Amino acid sequence: MDEFQLIRYYFAALTPPRADLRLGIGDDAALLQPPPGEELAVTTDTLVAGRHFPPDTAAYDIGWKALAVNLSDLAAMGAQPRWFFLALTMPQADANWLQEFARGLGDLAGRYTVSLAGGDTTCGPLSITITAIGSVPPGLALRRDGARPDDLICVTGPLGDAALALQLLQSGNLQQQDAALRHRLDRPEPRVAAGLALRGLASAALDLSDGLAGDLQHILDACHVGAAVQAEALPASAEFLRHALPAEQKLRLQAAGGDDYELCLCIPERNLAAARAACAEQLTVIGHITAQAGLRWLTAAGDSLVDPLRGYQHFA
Ligand code: ADP
Ligand code: MG
Repeated sequence: MDEFQLIRYYFAALTPPRADLRLGIGDDAALLQPPPGEELAVTTDTLVAGRHFPPDTAAYDIGWKALAVNLSDLAAMGAQPRWFFLALTMPQADANWLQEFARGLGDLAGRYTVSLAGGDTTCGPLSITITAIGSVPPGLALRRDGARPDDLICVTGPLGDAALALQLLQSGNLQQQDAALRHRLDRPEPRVAAGLALRGLASAALDLSDGLAGDLQHILDACHVGAAVQAEALPASAEFLRHALPAEQKLRLQAAGGDDYELCLCIPERNLAAARAACAEQLTVIGHITAQAGLRWLTAAGDSLVDPLRGYQHFA
């Protein structure tokens, strides 16, 4: 099967049609019709085999995750996902792999009715780049630069599952009963509905891809503020807690581990009740914004934890 047959077979009819995709796969460029007056939110993310997913990751999960991390970025902007583009580089056109990859990609795309509008297919080491486009009414995007002192810092779900799964996997200790942790690593759920629901209620937002400590710092830098976060307030799943890790290791996984894909939001206290009512995900308050710069980690008693926690940084 040549490149064009491959595109037609696996990708041309993969996703649901949308009226706002005037011309999709098959021409030199796609024609998109944005909703009148709205701004477009555009994001791109690459997954490289061995770097962003373990080499043994199922093709289905690679397809899912490649789109999920991009939809997560749109969620963090409060944007309504609409279209995406796929640049796929793979060592060979393996039919079984492509079938499963396309199925994972298509299942997640179907859930949010986003349409695959085009892409590029090349031969080389496995790497998947997706560009996702959404839209948001002017002034309503959830940017990183709107947080103010005393705003509450909230997250949409448990932290540390994916990092723990990766650690167990890399040390050869991932057991059958850790399937739920592995699932969180391989099939992140983009918090699209939460992002849409919290438009106009959150003052700042981002998605947690590289670890809370590093990611939250981006908001603090953008706003010239600091934060106090209570280590024990970070939500953890039952599967995570089952491992009964020492407090320090638990905090490292939850605050510096990556791949959570939960949203981290700053919410003025007066909006918290409305935010909780609007958002299906449970919002957990983990701390607050401070006028004083810097990220401080506190115990439940309010004592400072000395901790040079940092998120994952490429090239560091
Ligand atoms: P061109 O040579 O004009 O850049 P291509 O041969 O790369 O076009 O692609 C042909 C058509 O197939 C284009 O519409 C392109 O967007 C689409 N396409 C190519 N690869 C993919 C892919 N992996 N997923 C979706 N669409 C793709
Ligand atoms: Mg091309």
